[in-house]
Amino acid sequence: MAGRNFLFVPGPTNVPDRVLRAMVVAMEDHRSPVFPVLARACLEGLKPIFKTTTGTPFIFPSSGTGCWEAALTNCLNPGDKVLIARFGQFSHLWADMSARLGFDVEIIETPWGEGAPVDRYLAALEADSQHKIKAVLVCQNETATGVTSDVRAVRAAMDSVKHPALLFVDSVSALGSIDFRMDEWGVDVCVSGSQKGLMLPAGLGITCVSQKALAIAKSTKSRRCYFDYGDMVNSNASGYFPYTPALPMLYGLRESLAMIAEEGLENIFQRHNYLASGVRAAVLDGWKLKLCAAEPKWYSDTVSAILVPEGINGADVISRAFKRYNLALGAGLSKVAGKLFRIGHLGDLNELMLLGAIAGAEMAMLDVGVAIEPGSGVAAAQSFWRAYSAPALARPAETTRAGMAA
Ligand code: PLP
Repeated sequence: MAGRNFLFVPGPTNVPDRVLRAMVVAMEDHRSPVFPVLARACLEGLKPIFKTTTGTPFIFPSSGTGCWEAALTNCLNPGDKVLIARFGQFSHLWADMSARLGFDVEIIETPWGEGAPVDRYLAALEADSQHKIKAVLVCQNETATGVTSDVRAVRAAMDSVKHPALLFVDSVSALGSIDFRMDEWGVDVCVSGSQKGLMLPAGLGITCVSQKALAIAKSTKSRRCYFDYGDMVNSNASGYFPYTPALPMLYGLRESLAMIAEEGLENIFQRHNYLASGVRAAVLDGWKLKLCAAEPKWYSDTVSAILVPEGINGADVISRAFKRYNLALGAGLSKVAGKLFRIGHLGDLNELMLLGAIAGAEMAMLDVGVAIEPGSGVAAAQSFWRAYSAPALARPAETTRAGMAA
């Protein structure tokens, strides 16, 4: 098909040309005396992304799922109890993994479309007077439903009852796009991956571990090998990895971290909110459809899950968008399969890219019989963005040719 594929799934996201170019490198010896320069730039460069000075970032050649497993097997003993709210496919998968690895999982069943129910976390922790719960798991941004949760409030709930459990946060589709604060929120393990806000291809599991969790991991007995934090700590100390690292990805990561530093993390969060608000204007004001996120307080700035009207199959919208318009939209997963489609709005994005996705989704919906006004989504997003009155968004200079020449 002629022209570009429009990639609007909520990860993998568009990889900026700068990052792609940085990854075109010859292979080199990962045990050479100069390799630690690259490794340290990546490991140190991740700290501000996690907003940590005391935590330790690790880079595993995996994806976010590998870091889920690393958190569980490093920080817990066999059979330990974990507490998790399930409100979408990814919180479900983390709960499922915890059970499959032999942990005792207490699940707080929560309607899909809502976020972490802080009061129910609190009630479960209060009831746990013997402190059997060893880790509290929270999905900061449930990618399946487009819902963002208040991690800080979960930490406050834990503190209010002086519960000593570790706090594990899945920030796979939030880190680098929606505010995350490792130190301030007292997070013990943050789990993420390369292919979303960090604007890289899939292939790196990116995680950060508190000193408390690292100390606990020294004596836990759960079986692990490839994902052992201790091996990483030992090798990373001298700027190396315990096994062959994904070298081109590390070059890419160094470049994406440079891009993030240039734009500024807070500006990036603001850009994501601004772009997401335009998409929400298209959905709610233009198309007059509903989001899966039940209330504005849950709205995600990285992904919108759009409910299709009764009688329409969301999968048909996605299929039509892909086959006819070369536009990749996110699918409805598991419980919400067929009920929705998702637009990812995270990473290296601007208004015009998103208008392409909104226009494509609009055409695909019209083609499969959704009764929306042609052009209404595009017009609503345009109106929102044009009326936006906050100070001009900081734009990374090198995203334009003129900027590159400057
Ligand atoms: N958690 C969330 C919130 C996700 O969105 C994803 C993937 O999309 C995962 C975990 C799993 O990560 P990965 O696919 O990188 O293994």
